[in-house]
Amino acid sequence: MKLLLDLSHKLGDPARQMAILGEGNASVWLGDETFLVKASGCNLATLDKTGVVECRAKTLLPLLEKTNLSDAEIDGTLLDSRLDTRAKKPSVEALFHAWLLTLPGIEFVGHTHAPAVNSILCSPRAEEFATKRIFPDEIVCCDVASVFIPYTDPGLKLAQAIRARTEEFIRNLGRPPLVILMENHGIITLGRSIQAVLSAMLMAEKTATIWLGAAALGGPKFMTPEHIERISGRPDEIVRRKMLKL
Ligand SMILES: [Zn+2]
Repeated sequence: MKLLLDLSHKLGDPARQMAILGEGNASVWLGDETFLVKASGCNLATLDKTGVVECRAKTLLPLLEKTNLSDAEIDGTLLDSRLDTRAKKPSVEALFHAWLLTLPGIEFVGHTHAPAVNSILCSPRAEEFATKRIFPDEIVCCDVASVFIPYTDPGLKLAQAIRARTEEFIRNLGRPPLVILMENHGIITLGRSIQAVLSAMLMAEKTATIWLGAAALGGPKFMTPEHIERISGRPDEIVRRKMLKL
């Protein structure tokens, strides 16, 4: 609980503007098939334990196999997944949290609507931001590529799209992604520690700021696949990843 509140407060830090009002959410896997996630409508910056819900992944995951469910049926299952029936309603985004937290080595998930990242995700160049890389630290904290999700209705359909595209990423690279970018929506970062989630989130936002600046000068000039591969395999960068708990 303490780690989740700490992550939430950092993601919701008003100075960063990545999640204001009730935007964004965060979750942690507790093992034993349950996880903690922010309740619907609560503020990340001021989150306390009354705004956190413990949910059973087993109740939520079967929804991902279904189509044509009404919003009321989805809401009903979200409420049924709570261990404590007095707890608040989990965010509808708990569906993608539940699935991502079952990936090997993933203990924490964060989601925000970070301004510079969203400036690109709301532009015609959104997919390029996910598939290309512009500097070495981006590769260290965000991996050699991010998962890109074309705009999808938030809720069940979005969770299904995230699953399909993330499975494809894992088939290609043999590991879960660190960053998932959702067109016209926002960013998800995931990892084995809160440091990994925060590093990927903050570095993606910094990268987006640099991207926007470089675009104003006719860029960005992208790194070549050879340079990207070199950085991702360098022993000193692997040590740095370990130090950052990525
Ligand atoms: Zn969102």
